[in-house]
Amino acid sequence: MRIDVVTIFPEYLAPLDVSLVGKACAKGLLDVHLHQLRDWTYDVHKTVDDTPYGGGPGMVMKPEPWGLALDAVLEQGESAAAPVPRMIVPTPSGRPFTQDLAVELAEEPWLLFAPARYEGIDRRVLDEAATRMRVDEVSIGDYVLAGGEVAVLVMVEAVARLLPGVLGNAESHRDDSFAPGAMANLLEGPVYTKPAEWRGREVPPITVSGNHGAIARWRRDEALRRTSAHRPDLIGRIDPAAVDKKDRAL
Ligand code: SAM
Repeated sequence: MRIDVVTIFPEYLAPLDVSLVGKACAKGLLDVHLHQLRDWTYDVHKTVDDTPYGGGPGMVMKPEPWGLALDAVLEQGESAAAPVPRMIVPTPSGRPFTQDLAVELAEEPWLLFAPARYEGIDRRVLDEAATRMRVDEVSIGDYVLAGGEVAVLVMVEAVARLLPGVLGNAESHRDDSFAPGAMANLLEGPVYTKPAEWRGREVPPITVSGNHGAIARWRRDEALRRTSAHRPDLIGRIDPAAVDKKDRAL
């Protein structure tokens, strides 16, 4: 997968060189290109923002540098894995970023992220971009960050771990919270490792019983309890066909 990010803070994306995403890049599974938006400004101050039409506080990112930056990225279509990327614009007013969307984005050969600063990007940039490629405005949560770079890190990491070959064990994300399948819409329950006793606390005996059926039941019970406690809104989204008698007894 190819990923391009246009930003005024490419250095904010340095964590993409680290850990799982960094290793995916080193293995050639991810091809990340960072672009400095100010490279497409032509004034001495490299200005990327201006006062908003209609007044109001804050500044708005100017359309000209964004337009030229997107032109330049799109020109690389001939050498990229797809003719055009799918553009993702982080914004608190976008559609929520979910595991389902991460799964969808992991199928794309090329993603282009446009994280903003200030009050966001002049709307015409997104409208014009939408005539050339698919554009999604995406929010990572109901809060407001100072800029979209952290949102890009969140989305790239969630997508990258789904790419084939990135996780050591391809099954690792099968039982994750929010993963599709038998445990869809259930949060993952508690997890334990060795030693079996630590500071007088033992792991639940079922986990060392070797009874795989009973362990699977225990995991599901714990997931149901945790989901009821932390995210009762998800319980109503569980497929009724996937609910059994023991679930109902909880
Ligand atoms: N005035 C904007 C609003 O209320 O929707 C907020 C602008 S915010 C200060 C600056 C930038 O940070 C946004 O344009 C976006 O790129 C990013 N950002 C902030 N919160 C975000 C969130 N929850 N999800 C995704 N991006 C976010």
